[in-house]
Amino acid sequence: MNEMDIIESLRGREETVWMNPGLDKCEPRSEIEGYKFVHVKAAQNRFMRFLPYIASAFPETADKKGVIESGLIPIPAVKEKMNEEGAGIKGRVFLKDDARLPIAGSVKARGGIHEVLKIAETLAQKAGMLWPTDNYQKIDSDEFRSFYSQYTIQVGSTGNLGISIGRMAAKLGFRAIVHMSRDARQWKKDLLRSEGVIVKEYEGDYGQAVASGRRESLTDEKSFFIDDENSEDLFFGYSTAALRVQVQLRKAGIAIDENHPLFLYLPCGVGGAPGGITFGFKELFGDNVHCFFAEPVEAPCFLLGMATGEHDRICVRDIGLSGLTIADGLAVGKPSGFVCRMMEHLVSGAFTVSDAKLLDYQKMLMDLENIRVEPSACAGFKGLSEICRGGNEWDWYIKEHGLSEHMDQAVHIVWATGGGLMPWDQ
Ligand SMILES: *Cc1c(COP(=O)(O)O)cnc(C)c1O
Repeated sequence: MNEMDIIESLRGREETVWMNPGLDKCEPRSEIEGYKFVHVKAAQNRFMRFLPYIASAFPETADKKGVIESGLIPIPAVKEKMNEEGAGIKGRVFLKDDARLPIAGSVKARGGIHEVLKIAETLAQKAGMLWPTDNYQKIDSDEFRSFYSQYTIQVGSTGNLGISIGRMAAKLGFRAIVHMSRDARQWKKDLLRSEGVIVKEYEGDYGQAVASGRRESLTDEKSFFIDDENSEDLFFGYSTAALRVQVQLRKAGIAIDENHPLFLYLPCGVGGAPGGITFGFKELFGDNVHCFFAEPVEAPCFLLGMATGEHDRICVRDIGLSGLTIADGLAVGKPSGFVCRMMEHLVSGAFTVSDAKLLDYQKMLMDLENIRVEPSACAGFKGLSEICRGGNEWDWYIKEHGLSEHMDQAVHIVWATGGGLMPWDQ
């Protein structure tokens, strides 16, 4: 489809597929838009330094020694069910169960927590209270909590980013303020308030909540605003997922190479989480990994920004879409400009999915695999159901990249991004 057809299709709320004409070759460990593999490693190392603190402050992580990670789960029953309906999926199918990430219950754990930890580490180092060689368990103390209580951390959120950042910041002792858009679910607000986080509610969409938070933070020199639309520290926090999945694949005896392509289906809001994950995987696997972003038909901000080349200068309202969707984690009208630039030559494509399908997938996952996730987390399944069907854009992509004869050995990972803290009555 050309650009006009794509816009028309998005405007008509049709499920749309966009394959990135700017996709380029990518060597592992290469420099990408001025960033390198060391940026992924640096974030990973920061998580490692904080392990003793996390294990101490969040006892639910103690048995994993403070590691914030989730399972990579084979879901053969889903493949079977989709194939009964004509999907023709070849290769192995996994779910990345980020709903089970500790502390945040969503993909936001890696990004949000990383940025809060970086702020905390930098402040304490500047104050001469902390050295990189220290055992960071000492941060779980009244001395540090009272030090951090002079500072405020603020963020705009549709829910999950607020949970990740709010919980982590409050636990460290910071004053935490989360600016929530109209899409945020009540239980997410209640949870944060119960942990001492200040929740401010807005009638407007995500972009407006972010703008208010940013403004408010500027008036206070001891306040940090975590800017989901532009943050490198979120991005590289997310990117660490690739290092962990590489180990999980290796442990499962699975190689990723020219004969064993890896396909990722990543739910996308502003693009930080799927973008960071894509960066990390490209640094590890180069051209052998193919990353696709999934968005709701009412909020395809990344697809729109990329297909038009307008990045963050266009929003879904400009083409008559509401941005309203049951996928609250993806209810974003305008993508991150930073992420769009980073993804220009890395992302393979993007696609949209209807809210009705999200509910079907959510139910399917519960019925077949007994895995509970939120609607946002199911967006990737649409890509899985189409990639091997034939006679569509996906088919073109597979042929264009010479992948046809390798699809039997393909590995598909549907990234289930959240819902772990969701109450049972939701
Ligand atoms: C935030 C979120 C995403 C997407 O992350 P972005 O960085 O906004 O693109 C996907 N799924 C869930 C459940 C989320 O909360």
